[in-house]
Amino acid sequence: MTERVVIVGGGVAGVSTAAALRSGGFDGDLTLVDAGDFPYDRPPLSKDFLAGTKDIKQIALQPPQWYDDQRVRLINRTAVTALRPRDAAVELPDGRLLPADRVVLATGGGAARPPIPGIDSDRVHVLRTADDADRLRPALAPGARVLVVGAGLIGAEVASTAVRLGCQVDLVDPVAVPLAAVLGPELAAWLHDLHARHRVTTLRASVESFTELRTGIEVRLTSVAEPRLYDAVVLGVGMVPCTELARLAGLEVDRGIVVDERHVTSNPAVLAVGDPARVRRDGALLPRTEHWEAARHDGARAAATLLGTAPPEPTAPWFWTDRHARHVEAVGHLDTAEHTVVRGAFDGPSFAVFGLRDGLVVAAASVDDPSAVRAARRMIDRRIPADADRLADPSVKPRDLLRG
Ligand SMILES: Cc1cc2nc3c(=O)[nH]c(=O)nc-3n(C[C@H](O)[C@H](O)[C@H](O)COP(=O)(O)OP(=O)(O)OC[C@H]3O[C@@H](n4cnc5c(N)ncnc54)[C@H](O)[C@@H]3O)c2cc1C
Repeated sequence: MTERVVIVGGGVAGVSTAAALRSGGFDGDLTLVDAGDFPYDRPPLSKDFLAGTKDIKQIALQPPQWYDDQRVRLINRTAVTALRPRDAAVELPDGRLLPADRVVLATGGGAARPPIPGIDSDRVHVLRTADDADRLRPALAPGARVLVVGAGLIGAEVASTAVRLGCQVDLVDPVAVPLAAVLGPELAAWLHDLHARHRVTTLRASVESFTELRTGIEVRLTSVAEPRLYDAVVLGVGMVPCTELARLAGLEVDRGIVVDERHVTSNPAVLAVGDPARVRRDGALLPRTEHWEAARHDGARAAATLLGTAPPEPTAPWFWTDRHARHVEAVGHLDTAEHTVVRGAFDGPSFAVFGLRDGLVVAAASVDDPSAVRAARRMIDRRIPADADRLADPSVKPRDLLRG
């Protein structure tokens, strides 16, 4: 019988697990241990929080009173040092043991820092925590020369925020059209081109080295003859899942903490959720999903496992991102489609791309048209047959598409 649950990590996955346990009727001891000051949300870190239009209180995952109301014992500013499943406990830095019948690992990850010469310079930033954003913000002063490395989701958002703050921004990536796998080549190219229309210079290259000078940081790029001088560099080159506790506890780790579809690790007393969890389905390891909503769903599924109740229905993976005041949403992976259908015009106020295979929608992405993606998601989840002409017709309301 599970009476004491300890959740390690207070990101959206950990807090969602706690919330779902309580709303599902869990009445036992519930402890959330987090290394940070208090649990806050990460997506605003590259958007409003970095721009300074939201403060740390406004990005809290839950108001302070919530933890008392839900009887969640929050132990913050504390990094769990070891899992001790055999002793039914987790270990805190002062050697104390917290009793735990079941442990949920929700440890997220850290920003990747590739081994590039000079990368340890103070002018080279990453963005994963509120502290990272607080360190970066003063460097994004009007007129500052900023290089963003990596034109994926976070890099593009940082470039967009930096240019909005008045910086001169270069965005470098070795890939010609970043995000093509998820968004499809057409939409990904349109989004990448949007940078140039907003005074962000895109460069196709990799970074060879950083050299700190009195006047800035000199960056050598492949395929660019002369080194370039910047005031600040921001790396947006991916995340490294936090698997150390799992590894030390002897759990199966393979570029993520390996879990089954109920989020149970190779030790039945330990579950894992959110960015570091890697699901094995039908014997195959799936890629990790590093998106906010997936982390929230993981929490709900792990709670169902602990409660012994039916897990929520699976749903197609969804994320959003914002750049240059355009709101992008995507569901599924457009590169898995046989063909695509465009609704609206790429240079209109809003549009969507649907990906089809065998008469079904398998993916969609939109710019400023979230209702199209919402409809597509239902069509994917319920396998509603798709009519390409109706999908392409903006006069057909998205909810009417669900009638097939
Ligand atoms: C800048 C940024 C922008 C993003 N924007 C978007 C977006 O627009 N859309 C989207 O879908 N997704 C976005 N994401 C991704 C999304 O935020 C993540 O997928 C989500 O935060 C993952 O949640 P998590 O709880 O798994 O991990 P995290 O949010 O990383 O939380 C993990 C927590 O565990 C704590 N921890 C780690 N080790 C220990 C330990 N030993 N003891 C105690 N605590 C520990 C950490 O301090 C941290 O608080 C963004 C991410 C970043 C960084």
